[in-house]
Amino acid sequence: MGRVIVITSGKGGVGKSTVTANLGTALALIGNKVVVVDADVGLRNLDLILGLEGRIFYTSMDVILGNCELEQALIRDRRVKDLKLLAASQEHNKTDISVEQMKDICLSLKSEHDYVLVDSSAGIEQGFQNAIAGADEAIIVTTPEVAAIRDADRVIGLLQSKNIEAQLIVNRLFHEMVDAHHMLNHQDIVDILMIKLLGVIPEDPRKIIVSSNRGLPLTYNQYSPVGAAYRRIAQRLMGEEIPVPAFKDARWFGNLLSKLF
Ligand code: ADP
Ligand code: MG
Repeated sequence: MGRVIVITSGKGGVGKSTVTANLGTALALIGNKVVVVDADVGLRNLDLILGLEGRIFYTSMDVILGNCELEQALIRDRRVKDLKLLAASQEHNKTDISVEQMKDICLSLKSEHDYVLVDSSAGIEQGFQNAIAGADEAIIVTTPEVAAIRDADRVIGLLQSKNIEAQLIVNRLFHEMVDAHHMLNHQDIVDILMIKLLGVIPEDPRKIIVSSNRGLPLTYNQYSPVGAAYRRIAQRLMGEEIPVPAFKDARWFGNLLSKLF
């Protein structure tokens, strides 16, 4: 039996879909059998980040409606073995899938895969309830902004009330701004939210947008500090003890590498 992990937040736009695509890729590159599930029905974009949008034939809604078997709806990534996507329908609403239906899908998927990563929609309405329905554990994504942290706190409370243990990813940390005391650092955020830190992903405006547009997750990029952060997060998720680096060092290292290559 695999692990069903919901990737969620409170606030939208903090990087859930980007995290799901990159972490799924990183876990598959290590040799895990992974399926990423887009639970953002009506607003799907996980397929775009993974570059799989042109290959969607069936979605989770087709499985529910009995138009196809679950296995038929899984889209295989061409670049890495054992990474698959279950896409969301764009023609339906979040209320068209029930909590029970979502739970069944997650149960079936986890019997065949090591990791089932569920990309949640923003907010705490039906979409969120569906996304957490089959989850064994959760990853909360937040940016270092007060609004995002406050919303993350609410979601952590909701997850705790359902006995779903959550770990934290701080996304888009801008070390120059932290150094100038214009941004909270990851330790400040951990102190506020009081959950286990799974990892920190630095801000990378240029490359991540290019990579999303190209459908090539940064995890593949050996020289990107963001890619390296994702690969470390995958290893931590698998139980390895890998410290969160001081990001000054990561920046120095990244700059050095980008000059060399
Ligand atoms: P969500 O799924 O939470 O709505 P997305 O994954 O769609 O968020 O990301 C929202 C935006 O933030 C996207 O434009 C994405 O490219 C950008 N983004 C995500 N992570 C980073 C990062 N580490 N550095 C810079 N931009 C990022
Ligand atoms: Mg999203």
